[in-house]
Amino acid sequence: MTRVGITFNKNHYLHDSLLNGYPCPENPLRIKNILEYLENSGLIDDDKFHFYDASPASMRDILRVHTGEYVDLIKACTRDPRQSPGKDVYVCPSSFDVVLQALGCVLKAGELVATGECKHSYAIIRPPGHHAGPDSCNGFCLFNNSGILARYMQEVKGLERIAIVNIDAHASDGTYSAFEADQQVLCISIHQNQKTLYPFKGFIRDIGVRPALGYCINMEMPTESGNPEYSLFYDEVAEKVLDKFDPQLVILECGFDAYHKEPLAKLNLTIDGYYRMIFKLASKWSVVTLLEGGYHDDLGLLASVVLRALAGIENIGDEVDQIDLLASRHVKTRKEFNNNLSLLKTRLEPYWGPWDRS
Ligand SMILES: [Zn+2]
Repeated sequence: MTRVGITFNKNHYLHDSLLNGYPCPENPLRIKNILEYLENSGLIDDDKFHFYDASPASMRDILRVHTGEYVDLIKACTRDPRQSPGKDVYVCPSSFDVVLQALGCVLKAGELVATGECKHSYAIIRPPGHHAGPDSCNGFCLFNNSGILARYMQEVKGLERIAIVNIDAHASDGTYSAFEADQQVLCISIHQNQKTLYPFKGFIRDIGVRPALGYCINMEMPTESGNPEYSLFYDEVAEKVLDKFDPQLVILECGFDAYHKEPLAKLNLTIDGYYRMIFKLASKWSVVTLLEGGYHDDLGLLASVVLRALAGIENIGDEVDQIDLLASRHVKTRKEFNNNLSLLKTRLEPYWGPWDRS
């Protein structure tokens, strides 16, 4: 039986922009809604799912990715929450404790898979992390959750090949900056075209730096891209590269803002699209899934889809008519996508080609 471990940071509600007096889409309702949905759906009553407690991460864990000066800056800002350490980032007096607990849940999710206790795991944590670099933070992120887990798995567990796959609508720029020169960590980010969405980074031409050229992959998705385009990218590039890289672990930066109801982005994934990618990843590799973005009302539904895909449980029916969704979009979407996919394949050809004709 495939066992899936679940962790979540119980103190996450103490990281709340309302404590500083203003609302933010990245708020405690996100995890509250997910947990309520999972409980009400009955899905987590299945024997395949187990909740685990976690101890807070240590400074040593954080310093594997971030600089001491940066950590001091975040701490200083928590003492004076009117100060912001970066763009679109807020802190509260308890934010540092919340982050330590969130990172503890992330590391526990990794441990569960490393020890074989679980085949896959899901850390439902906030704040998100993929925009945070070694000495900077942006876009609601304070510390790089996936990066800290990857370094932990390298240094403590001795893993030599780790893949970090980002399916959040926003480019995984913080993760990229932490691993752009590391051949042992393959970073694949599929995100909305950086010309139309924050952080305005993650170009197809960005493939890492020596000695790790080709080990960072950025796929720019035109606005309104949906399930068919994600499938093509996954089948024709992501899976083929992953097969060749042969990761011992996949860390999935799983944002729900590529969903068609997301107000902060313009992509059209449905629950079928999420399920298919995660199911395919989980059928070949052990996957530690981390909650990243997503700011609409269906986060609970999508979290249940993640769990179904990880556990190999059949998905529920799609919530929209795919034909209507495809018919409603701009005719240029597919043409731009095909062009981008072709550019990406050409750029990566020296490192991961030749590509099979399909
Ligand atoms: Zn996002």
